[in-house]
Amino acid sequence: ALTNERTVRWLVLAAEAVSREADRLTELDSPIGDADHGNNMRRGFGAVRDSLTAETPETPGAVLRQAGRLLVSKVGGASGPLYGTLLRRAGKELGDSPEVSGADLAAALRTGVDAVAQLGGAATGDKTMLDALDPAVTALRTALERGETLEAALSQAGTAADEGAAATVPIRARKGRASYLGERSEGHLDPGAASSALLLAALAEAVA
Ligand code: ADP
Ligand code: MG
Ligand code: MG
Repeated sequence: ALTNERTVRWLVLAAEAVSREADRLTELDSPIGDADHGNNMRRGFGAVRDSLTAETPETPGAVLRQAGRLLVSKVGGASGPLYGTLLRRAGKELGDSPEVSGADLAAALRTGVDAVAQLGGAATGDKTMLDALDPAVTALRTALERGETLEAALSQAGTAADEGAAATVPIRARKGRASYLGERSEGHLDPGAASSALLLAALAEAVA
């Protein structure tokens, strides 16, 4: 099950991963964007880490809602409101239960991912973060339905996110800044899909 402490551990590990990988995320955002994705993610998740370690909210849902609010307010780029919406909507779905089952987590993340799609007007296959997030959340649910442990299911979700991110390379972007480039967006990994894969890996690590 997911507790508030494990949820904080997820977001602290995510902050460490985006900080470690910030240069790579910014490099991915330079041919098909404005070369700020690593900085946006480091600033946003750095603020999340500082806030959650200063005072930890009492439930997983409250942790996610607080983190989501911070991402929306601290990140100027498109990724801030989108990731902020993911976490806020997932947190809202979890309510205030102190312990969250794998199935509850999968359902909450599904609600969050659907909210990201609605806010950004994007679908899976448009070469955005959704290309990593959507298959990851589907993999999580199906693994849990097969009776796998949460740890194993999250590891499979991480693999699905990595594969979904890698699959953005040949696609022509249909949403976000990269879409302004038309066919010149082909042949590049989407930076938001790459950061989503880092977030899923951090979640698997937090529960392992
Ligand atoms: P900005 O493009 O404002 O500089 P970032 O560089 O931080 O913001 O984030 C860019 C990433 O955000 C993209 O790589 C893509 O994954 C994601 N993104 C952009 N627009 C959308 C959208 N409409 N729907 C879903 N994801 C999007
Ligand atoms: Mg950018
Ligand atoms: Mg920008």
